[in-house]
Amino acid sequence: MTALGDHLKRLIRQNGPISIATFMAEALAHAEHGYYTSRDPLGAKGDFVTAPEVSQIFGELIGVWLIDAWERQGAPEKIILCELGPGRGTLMADILRAGRVRPNFLNAAQVHFVEVSPALRARQEAALGGSHKATWHTTLTSVPSDRLSFFVANEFFDALPIRQFIRGESKWHERNIGLDNDRLIFGVTRDGVPEELVPPSLRQAPTGSLVETRTAADAIVSDIAARLTSGGAALLIDYGYERHAVGDTFQAMKAHAFTDPLLEPGEADLTAHVDFEALAAAAQNAGTSVFGPATQAGFLTALGINLRAERLAAANPTKADAIQKDVERLTSPLQMGSLFKVLALLPQGAQRPPGF
Ligand code: SAH
Repeated sequence: MTALGDHLKRLIRQNGPISIATFMAEALAHAEHGYYTSRDPLGAKGDFVTAPEVSQIFGELIGVWLIDAWERQGAPEKIILCELGPGRGTLMADILRAGRVRPNFLNAAQVHFVEVSPALRARQEAALGGSHKATWHTTLTSVPSDRLSFFVANEFFDALPIRQFIRGESKWHERNIGLDNDRLIFGVTRDGVPEELVPPSLRQAPTGSLVETRTAADAIVSDIAARLTSGGAALLIDYGYERHAVGDTFQAMKAHAFTDPLLEPGEADLTAHVDFEALAAAAQNAGTSVFGPATQAGFLTALGINLRAERLAAANPTKADAIQKDVERLTSPLQMGSLFKVLALLPQGAQRPPGF
């Protein structure tokens, strides 16, 4: 067992079974042995590849979208440009490169990163290459809110802790993780939990149904939305459901293959589908207009991914095939095109933005 596995077992022996949320939070973000805190997991040699790592066009188009939103709001002279879960910093570097066509945008943008991982903070600093100074935060709470803010997050919410509830004969129960001798195993609470923990539209689901919720994500989206009441924008990209849905989507990835989430805690990435209906509701309740979710393919195509790919291929003829392949990876419904979705938050009354 891993060092983190031993820590979790001690926790369970002392206090009894832990929720999936506690397991996920510890496995991913434990200060010493957490999956993210202790490594850079991205890329071909790592455990998974994300859209910004597939193609520079992804970040460039997001940059163009953000610049457009900034211009529509009168191109304010000082803004906060905040990315949550920036990974290797590739997305932000591509956004800032796209921003070179609008030097005023680059001058206006004060970059803030919300990142738990010291290993990845170092990568992010290197990715910006000294061209832009950034400020790091462990949570969104400490990011300043004294000027208009523009947010972006790609594959951030899927890593935030979920809870799982299972419909019993007469009550909902919470799925948890306990010990069978020395082995981590899934279980369920014997007592029922309040049905208010489950979205209303799913409360009548048949016996045996499993429902996932993510309070931490809803709270972060509320906080983002509250910062957008007088201007700014947020673009949230992730994989998941357009509407609340039943089903177990808790998964572990290691070296680009699925693995048992309980086998090597701290050594595999843990994620679950994002419930975009829940994120949209949190944003609406906090007073913003919500657009989407659009599929990643729909969003990128509307923003001109094909034209940009043609131009890039014309400038790099030997890479034309690779560029086309990367575009397909981002947009094909069989790959990232429809499972991945994009949600935009804008101040109330804002016009429909490009891509939606
Ligand atoms: N956006 C990047 C990386 C996605 S991986 C990309 O698309 O390539 C998830 C990112 O979120 C990593 O940078 C990870 O360290 C960070 N992260 C995960 N859980 C976090 C948390 N609870 N708080 C802040 N950052 C977190």
